[in-house]
Amino acid sequence: MARPDTAPPVPTDAPAPDVLPGLLTGTADREAVATDRSGYRPASLPDGVVRATRVEDVVDTLRWATAHRVPVVPRGAGSGLAAGASAHAGEVVLDLSGMDRILEIRPADQVAVAEPGVLTGDLDAAAHEHGLFYAPDPASAAYCSIGGNIATNAGGLRCAKYGVTRESVLGLDLVLADGRRVRTGRQTVKGVAGYDLTSLVVGSEGTLAVVVGATLRLRPRPDETATLAAHFADVGTAAAAAAAITAARLQPSVLELLDEATLLAVDAARGTSLRSSGSAMLLAQCDGRGAQADIAALGAVVGRFTPHHRSTTDPVEAAGLLEARRAALPSLELTGDVFIEDVAVPRSQLAAAVEGIAAISARTGVRIATVAHAGDGNLHPIVVVPRGESVTEGPAWEAAGAVFTLALGLGGTLTGEHGVGILKRAWLREEVGDDSLDLQRAVKAVFDPLGILNPGKAI
Ligand SMILES: Cc1cc2nc3c(=O)[nH]c(=O)nc-3n(C[C@H](O)[C@H](O)[C@H](O)COP(=O)(O)OP(=O)(O)OC[C@H]3O[C@@H](n4cnc5c(N)ncnc54)[C@H](O)[C@@H]3O)c2cc1C
Repeated sequence: MARPDTAPPVPTDAPAPDVLPGLLTGTADREAVATDRSGYRPASLPDGVVRATRVEDVVDTLRWATAHRVPVVPRGAGSGLAAGASAHAGEVVLDLSGMDRILEIRPADQVAVAEPGVLTGDLDAAAHEHGLFYAPDPASAAYCSIGGNIATNAGGLRCAKYGVTRESVLGLDLVLADGRRVRTGRQTVKGVAGYDLTSLVVGSEGTLAVVVGATLRLRPRPDETATLAAHFADVGTAAAAAAAITAARLQPSVLELLDEATLLAVDAARGTSLRSSGSAMLLAQCDGRGAQADIAALGAVVGRFTPHHRSTTDPVEAAGLLEARRAALPSLELTGDVFIEDVAVPRSQLAAAVEGIAAISARTGVRIATVAHAGDGNLHPIVVVPRGESVTEGPAWEAAGAVFTLALGLGGTLTGEHGVGILKRAWLREEVGDDSLDLQRAVKAVFDPLGILNPGKAI
């Protein structure tokens, strides 16, 4: 069966126009797409924005940009946290949020075909109608796009069990920097023909190609879930319990950690009293037919670290328990401007990482609250500064730098799911080394020889 086209093929031999049709250059249009949710403030505005609604708009933009050597910044929903979609003078933004159709859901194959601007939560909701779900669930699912998720290889709460976005992308429809259309991957769950260009483009942060369509893997919705909440005397013990759950070969679908600063912020915002039960909290969920037995086994492991834990199979009560995690960031945002960090460490190093972050906060005097996807060792230290103060310069940024150094020293990485963007580019060489970075830049040059796709980002 042929993969459905998102648009008829566009001839690429006609000369590129001098003036780009659809280029919006009004100040309000340019301001609306100047940056993302990272807190990064570009010193200038981009020259214009194209709001694509069809593949042809993308092809026209890139052919024009190639002819005139104009850098193009692909943009999804602008919820990124690494300044990957930020744009400056001399650049044009290609906004893909208007390409927002779910083209097909094939329940028999457990596959969906979607345009890049589809919101992640909308795809998941559409899959639910067929007894299926879309596994990647960034906390921003209600307002981030599939294209942005693919470009950042987004994660989320459920990736402790189901993996990150890459594990759910079977094939991609791409437009290259010169306007050519290319298809990668396949519609089958298995397949190894040729180099895996799909995986290469996933996580490439808009620097290799523009995603204009995706064939995505769906999964059967689990019919049972069981949820556990546990309170600990200190965050190091909570992290040690999370590591023990992994070491016991248990596989929760959700395993989240909240530290004391986070619990205090949630209590202040929501009128709860989570902190009174302990200075750190773990939330776990197991799904599938063995969910109840799994949560009981998980409770037994947690019981070695704290007597204060309870579990439920009631979905309403479970939603209440998980609400603390969902409320964490909005609650911290009420207390100042925030920068959400995103380091990951080997899961056995989780306790050392949370303790090291607390020490950095104490040493620098910069407020850092930590939430973590503890199941995969991915920590989000949230730097909180007084309103109006920069989070990407000065003491806050120095503290963030110390957290990067800590993570690398523990055998970890600069970014578990948000991407490198602009903000972490200065540290990338330290993580990957000279030869790997050179190789990555050589790969970029094959896809984009003129270097017009999202320059200055990711590598
Ligand atoms: C409150 C909050 C919670 C968050 N929680 C999570 C979380 O749990 N997990 C997580 O992984 N992230 C999380 N994020 C970060 C963000 O939502 C993700 O990085 C998301 O994948 C970005 O998608 P977007 O559509 O907003 O992309 P944008 O921010 O618009 O762009 C992100 C990057 O993708 C590129 N890009 C966008 N669309 C395309 C395309 N079609 N083709 C090529 N390149 C493209 C851009 O150039 C840029 O480099 C959170 C953000 C916020 C504000």
